Amino acid sequence: MDNAAPFSSTDSQQSLKILFAASEAQPLIKTGGLADVAGSLPPTLRHMNHDIRLILPAYPEVVERAIPLKEAATLYLAGHTEPVRLLSGMLFGHLPLYLVDAPELFGRPGNPYVGPDGHDWPDNAQRFALFCRAVVAVALNQADQHWQPDIIHCNDWQTGLVPPLLHHEGNRPATLFTIHNLAYQGLFDQAIFQQLQLPSELWSHEGLEFHDKLSFIKGGLAFADRLNTVSPTYADEICTSEFGYGLEGLLRHRQNRLSGILNGIDYHYWNPAADPYIHQHFDHNTFELKQINKQQLQQEMGLPQNKKAFLLGYVGRLVEQKGIDLVLELLPKLARIENIQVVLLGSGMAHFEEALSDASERYLDNIAIHIGYNEQLAHRIEAGSDCFLMPSRFEPCGLNQLYSLRYGTVPIVRHTGGLADTVVDVTAQSLLDGSATGFVFDHPTAPALWEAIERAIEFYHRPESWWQKLAVTGMQQDFSWPSSATQYVELYREAILNPIPNPVR
Ligand code: ADP
Repeated sequence: MDNAAPFSSTDSQQSLKILFAASEAQPLIKTGGLADVAGSLPPTLRHMNHDIRLILPAYPEVVERAIPLKEAATLYLAGHTEPVRLLSGMLFGHLPLYLVDAPELFGRPGNPYVGPDGHDWPDNAQRFALFCRAVVAVALNQADQHWQPDIIHCNDWQTGLVPPLLHHEGNRPATLFTIHNLAYQGLFDQAIFQQLQLPSELWSHEGLEFHDKLSFIKGGLAFADRLNTVSPTYADEICTSEFGYGLEGLLRHRQNRLSGILNGIDYHYWNPAADPYIHQHFDHNTFELKQINKQQLQQEMGLPQNKKAFLLGYVGRLVEQKGIDLVLELLPKLARIENIQVVLLGSGMAHFEEALSDASERYLDNIAIHIGYNEQLAHRIEAGSDCFLMPSRFEPCGLNQLYSLRYGTVPIVRHTGGLADTVVDVTAQSLLDGSATGFVFDHPTAPALWEAIERAIEFYHRPESWWQKLAVTGMQQDFSWPSSATQYVELYREAILNPIPNPVR
């Protein structure tokens, strides 16, 4: 039986009905880049006149920030004894928002995925299975909303059960599954599969089974009408054994429905000419004013006020993915060079946090570390640094290099994923044709990173105008959302017009 997609027009101007499902969204709750995307792509699509609605779990912070809310429906969902409330509200005054309110599962403050002990909540499978079922209810117009979307845009493993749960439904919307990071897969014991009361036929190699475990992400990868990742290079990389975590075979099998779209960034929130969190506003015409932000950052972080210092910044999760161990290895070497300063902001694995704190105590004159999550300081580091370190082992898209470019902070990045797609290495040729925006290195090793840092230092000491040209070229790149949002609309249409056929029942 073929799928009867509710939307059948090829009219590229027609407004689409889109349900955007995510486990975090700025400014309601954020742990990483997914929240930036979920907080900026839907409003952009709304501005483009699409009927898009956002659905999230009703974590306490989210409820508090989204007030006023009203009760939109009561849902009775399989695998869950209590009725679940669907709340509705409005984000930014124009973006309809649904919150799935199951207090026994989501009524916990703090990080949406891990408890205060730093470990995953033990009932994450139940929490996000319930979330998926609520999304499915809205998708099938079973939530008293008198609204059926043309497409469900699912994001990461927390929404991975939506495509398989919809797969057998005759009148289902199309599905797009976006992989923001393949490293996080939602893997659980087989016994959980039974507890969740999922359709038994889903327990197979073609379904949700992955090496005897239940894999939420496999649901999205195997059953969505279209798949995408957040950069073209990462879309290729995950089809290889180096980046595919054993899922590369499935991804290669689906490669004709897999593509990459770079994330945009919010140009209002990350705007050096109007950023409320930084001391001195500047733009590409007043680049020299950026220096004032450097002095302020030195003062804030307790570093010597040294105009000549070359300041390297880092903001990010302290995990191996980000190559923070490579930075750590180089800190003693960096600390020995005159006029070099390093400012790091991050939180994550305890051993990295401790090692960084030790280093900052040892090298008081050169290295300043802030352990924790601090949105405003992140802006000031972007504004005050000369270079930004991003030596990631893999990077699906990466946002900080985009913020850096926007703030005239020259990125030093590894050639992987979205970093490879957004930063142009300084070479004789790229300097000649004016395309150079940063320093790119290949191997995930400390010597390779060191070589890139040395190149940056050397370039910084050439005539000042050279550095300014490099930084200003970065500031003039366009990584705003509208161009990426237009590509998403194309992908939505492809998924709607060419869904995978329903299985024969
Ligand atoms: P990922 O999603 O893998 O963490 P991204 O570069 O895509 O990496 O996005 C990370 C986002 O989280 C950026 O907006 C970054 O500024 C922010 N961020 C990460 N760690 C911190 C921190 N300690 N303080 C403030 N912002 C942070």
